[in-house]
Amino acid sequence: MSTYKKTEEYDPTVTKKLAEHYKEVLTLLGEDVKREGLEKTPERVAKAMQFLTHGNCIDPAELLRSAIFNEKYNQMVLIKDIEVYSLCEHHLVPFFGKAHVAYIPNGKIVGLSKIPRVVDAFSQRLQVQERLTTQIRDCIQETLNPHGVAVVIEAKHLCMLMRGIQKQNSVATTSAFTGEFLTDPKTREEFMNLISGKLH
Ligand SMILES: [Zn+2]
Repeated sequence: MSTYKKTEEYDPTVTKKLAEHYKEVLTLLGEDVKREGLEKTPERVAKAMQFLTHGNCIDPAELLRSAIFNEKYNQMVLIKDIEVYSLCEHHLVPFFGKAHVAYIPNGKIVGLSKIPRVVDAFSQRLQVQERLTTQIRDCIQETLNPHGVAVVIEAKHLCMLMRGIQKQNSVATTSAFTGEFLTDPKTREEFMNLISGKLH
């Protein structure tokens, strides 16, 4: 028997209200909300949407602050290929891809697992890729005060792909830098080389 128990808690009042609205939406879309497959859909969507936006209730800076260590290491720390799943705030459909995040410590490092969690906390909200990129950068810069932060996100947007806009395989790339990544072309180049897959 496992001693680990995952619990998910949803506000029943919010879930109920949301479900009523989704029922209405489905009906307006011409669906029969009484058919078997859709019977529980409004409630499932209500819960799914609450989960997919629960990053609003997380303080990513606090996540970082909970695992900061003094350390003399002053070379680039890079976490690449962090999976990103977010919702486009213009169409409420997903965009997804990879984030690559680097920083150059200034006497302080952060537990490596915290960086993907910061990416998650900002992703699990209604977003645009551009803002997601700068929010991750600013959070790390303001919390760790490193010599520089670099964030690159490559993502596919279902609102583009599914609505038949041309270039079905197009990927949107956004980037945001601070400190040495901005002022030192060599540092930025090293970062770009590292994330472009040469180590794979
Ligand atoms: Zn969109």
